[in-house]
Amino acid sequence: MLVLTCPYCGVAACETELAPGGEAHLKRFGPGSSDEDFEAYLFLRPNVKGVHFERWRHAMGCGKWFLAARDTATLEVFGTYRAQTSAPPPEIVAAIQAKRPDWSLT
Ligand SMILES: [Zn+2]
Repeated sequence: MLVLTCPYCGVAACETELAPGGEAHLKRFGPGSSDEDFEAYLFLRPNVKGVHFERWRHAMGCGKWFLAARDTATLEVFGTYRAQTSAPPPEIVAAIQAKRPDWSLT
């Protein structure tokens, strides 16, 4: 079972206590963007097998949104962090690169 630690209240929450929110760090497109960019923002996701950044909500706890870095194939969690960031924090990137030397943030 997937267990993520909420960065706000510090509780290690099981997957059943959380609500998934999809991919993290999406680049949003609004008025004035091309149809192709807006379509990609709405519908196209890479469906990564490996390191992935996701949005989660601590639904059965504090109710706040946070972000998690994990491996979708092994469920290994590299860390969680607050949602008000536009990129993963350096300590999360370092934790991933320590275990996946060939991985890079693109
Ligand atoms: Zn919480």
